Amino acid sequence: MIELEANWNYPTNIRVGSGRSQELAEICASIGMRSPLLITDPGLAALPMVDVAVANCRDAGLQCGLFSDVQGNPTGSNVTNGVAAFREGNHDGVIAFGGGSALDAAKAVALMAGQSRPLWDFEDDGDNWTRADEAGIAPVIAIPTTAGTGSEVGRASVIVDEKRRVKKIIFHPKMLPAVVILDPQLTTGLPPHLTAATGMDALSHNLEAYCAPFFHPMAEAISMEGARRVKQFLPRAVADGSDLEARTQMLVAASMGATAFQKGLGGMHALAHPLGALYDAHHGLLNAILMPYILEANRPVIEDQIGRLSRFLDIQETGYDGFLAWVLEIREQIGIPHALSAIDIDDTDAVKVGEMAARDPSAGGNPILFSAEQYSQIFASAVRGQLK
Ligand SMILES: [Zn+2]
Repeated sequence: MIELEANWNYPTNIRVGSGRSQELAEICASIGMRSPLLITDPGLAALPMVDVAVANCRDAGLQCGLFSDVQGNPTGSNVTNGVAAFREGNHDGVIAFGGGSALDAAKAVALMAGQSRPLWDFEDDGDNWTRADEAGIAPVIAIPTTAGTGSEVGRASVIVDEKRRVKKIIFHPKMLPAVVILDPQLTTGLPPHLTAATGMDALSHNLEAYCAPFFHPMAEAISMEGARRVKQFLPRAVADGSDLEARTQMLVAASMGATAFQKGLGGMHALAHPLGALYDAHHGLLNAILMPYILEANRPVIEDQIGRLSRFLDIQETGYDGFLAWVLEIREQIGIPHALSAIDIDDTDAVKVGEMAARDPSAGGNPILFSAEQYSQIFASAVRGQLK
């Protein structure tokens, strides 16, 4: 087996390898961070790994603070409170530590650290991001503890606007973390159902980026290889959480997915965003359940492309049908339910969900620009588990 340790500079500085989170304090010093605020969620804050990270920094003479008031779907007030903690503690950088929620909240806090405008002014729309005072954006070191969102290599955060009950994408190029540590030891404790759900989020990123109808051959190539790694290593990571090779490869596949989706996302995310905001359901689990329904709806225009991917993934029965069968098989193998009804979502709000999905920024990357009615229908089929 080749050595699973390396330093990469694309799309940012990435240190990958088992145990490398021990390099945290040295990394802070190397980018001039003397007083970092470590942002995580309350569940992780109670675990030894956060104590270890904070102690690692303090032992090296850094003034490390801790902020952990971040919800599963992080909200605008989580960010506001984090910014207050950042300013109060005179911090000069952010350590984003955790799953997608903690990373997104932390990146948004870093963006807002020195801004005078409200958070929603930086919603990913046109050139809104140019309103930000770049000098007021704090540097971020990102340490993911799940292999899914890939937020550690992303330039955006998804934050819930509680007042309007909608998920908004906050974007700025400088939100891309300065350094990323991919340490598989931090993910070994993740239970199988979360390993499965987050891993399928990584697959959905690679798959939607691959299918997005834009010219970005580099992203396309990355998405294919990212999907291949999910196919090879996600079942292993779910079956044996302590499999460090599988955990490393899934962290890499997740970072590849988020690198690739600069090309675009699609219908899975267009539906998963409103459903996450309305039902507070797990993002990765939503994408995992929605995946085959969106594939089926897109089938007329993605058949050739998916056929090519099926050959690259070495799926026995090549072509669209073989690929769809593999998606259904891996979902079942890792314990993903087939219908949204299994996670207590019914179709009462189908009209509203359809409207929100059609308006979601991810909808623009879907190979077919579905109408609100079409999204409502796809959603209703996913609630009932009716694939064909
Ligand atoms: Zn996602």
